[in-house]
Amino acid sequence: MTPAVPSSAEPSDLAARAAQQHVVVIGGGIGGLVAARECAKVGMRVTLLEAREAVGGSIRTADLDGIVVDAGAESFATRGGTVRALVEELGLADAIVRPEGGGAWLSGIPDAPDAPLPVGGILGIPANPFADDVRRIIGWRGAWRAYVDRLRPPLTIGHERSLGKLVRSRMGARVRDRLVAPVTAGVYSAHPDEVDTDVAAPGLNAALTRVGSLSGAVDALRTDQKQKAGTTPGSAVLGISGGMGRLVDALRADIEAYGVEVRTGVTVTSIERTGSTWTVQTEVPDAADDEAPDAAAEPLTATGVIVATAEPPARALLEGLVDGLGEPGAAPEIEIVTLLLDAPELDAAPRGSGVLTVPGSHTAKALTHSTAKWGWLREAAGGRHVVRVSFGTQGEAAATVGLDEDGAARLALTEASALLGVALRPSQLVAAHRARFVQAQPTSVIGAAERRQAVRKAVQQTPGLAAVGAWLAGTGLAQVIPDAVAEADRLRHALLWR
Ligand SMILES: Cc1cc2nc3c(=O)[nH]c(=O)nc-3n(C[C@H](O)[C@H](O)[C@H](O)COP(=O)(O)OP(=O)(O)OC[C@H]3O[C@@H](n4cnc5c(N)ncnc54)[C@H](O)[C@@H]3O)c2cc1C
Repeated sequence: MTPAVPSSAEPSDLAARAAQQHVVVIGGGIGGLVAARECAKVGMRVTLLEAREAVGGSIRTADLDGIVVDAGAESFATRGGTVRALVEELGLADAIVRPEGGGAWLSGIPDAPDAPLPVGGILGIPANPFADDVRRIIGWRGAWRAYVDRLRPPLTIGHERSLGKLVRSRMGARVRDRLVAPVTAGVYSAHPDEVDTDVAAPGLNAALTRVGSLSGAVDALRTDQKQKAGTTPGSAVLGISGGMGRLVDALRADIEAYGVEVRTGVTVTSIERTGSTWTVQTEVPDAADDEAPDAAAEPLTATGVIVATAEPPARALLEGLVDGLGEPGAAPEIEIVTLLLDAPELDAAPRGSGVLTVPGSHTAKALTHSTAKWGWLREAAGGRHVVRVSFGTQGEAAATVGLDEDGAARLALTEASALLGVALRPSQLVAAHRARFVQAQPTSVIGAAERRQAVRKAVQQTPGLAAVGAWLAGTGLAQVIPDAVAEADRLRHALLWR
């Protein structure tokens, strides 16, 4: 990474130049908070504007009968080490925890009971189609079809961009639909056919050409990964005792200590540039009257702007200002209903840490048994259970849309009963919380990487402007955080040296 300040400059000169800058960050999700921190660190004046009443964006908490739970992101990937480094820098090293509760289960397998998700694959693609845990899901017929992959002549192997097409052609529809689709829907909210093999499983196509079969390639890649990481691939997520909301609280306190002014409940409606000065127009809700429309507030002037919202509001702000933004990516809307249950039947964690579903088999997309997965939450819940039910995926609206809060809670309870294999009664529901999110189009969807690069290039051609967040960096803290650091670094260099 480039150093924060150029080495040839006098420190006092740079400090004075930094102090003349005013950067406005629009959006207080993790991307905006991290970008604000990077600019404030070198002495720039920073104002962060967040439309909601709380910062954090997709890292959101809910209070269920006095128990604080993660209503959005609940963990972070250890990949690259940047999230962990930030968590440690913010003084939360002792709070880092590992998930428990065993693996996840699969529900909705045609003509077969629910079963644990097989271990030992990549994105659900098995290394051995005859392994008991795989055969239980795809049946003997599916296993023999998948085995054809091993017999096919290497000459038929080419470079297939679509993961779904690759899996279907080599190992058959059952492997694609019953093993791979639940994983891609759960992780990327996308059908396997839309997933870019090279982005989602780097090295798989090359290993396929090298070893001559897809299952062999999975085996070879997993062996490589184990050797590199000294651990089992797939186990690489961590959480924070007390919830991910603690990361947001610590980050907000940290940036405020650097002097960042954080304003919540302020929606940015437009940005304009005149020479090297930006004008940021905002709206604030009428505090005296909930029914009254939001009122325009005094505009802010700035020397730099960082747009850190999700894709739809970011495009609305950038449209007309930046050429070459291209077409928007599909952004799935999902809803998470979190339930607090008085249900001793769940003490034995009947479905491990949670359940993925075969697409089309259930109304819900996935379920997390949070008190089985996180020890800190189990303790906090005092014998009760927390279960998160997710609805909606790419191309399929969440089944809870249009329902009121009670209706959404009832549907989530019905789905939880089905997915956990336990009859849960409405009287066992202590509290419920529902949250809606617009998910960024996953980086692994075919064409997404090119689209992102084009937007990035267009934004970077506008002096004093930067854009961060999952719609450009890819979904997940491990993607958003290092990208926001790099993009803020680029902007502050440009501002200090123009
Ligand atoms: C349900 C769910 C679960 C997830 N689980 C995980 C997980 O376990 N691990 C993981 O690593 N990742 C997870 N992710 C992904 C991760 O949370 C996101 O990729 C990341 O938090 C996105 O951060 P962001 O800053 O790009 O955007 P956001 O978090 O969306 O923040 C954007 C902010 O901009 C604000 N805003 C929008 N418009 C305006 C405006 N006009 N003016 C002012 N402010 C505005 C919004 O209110 C919001 O606060 C999950 C995502 C979801 C939705």
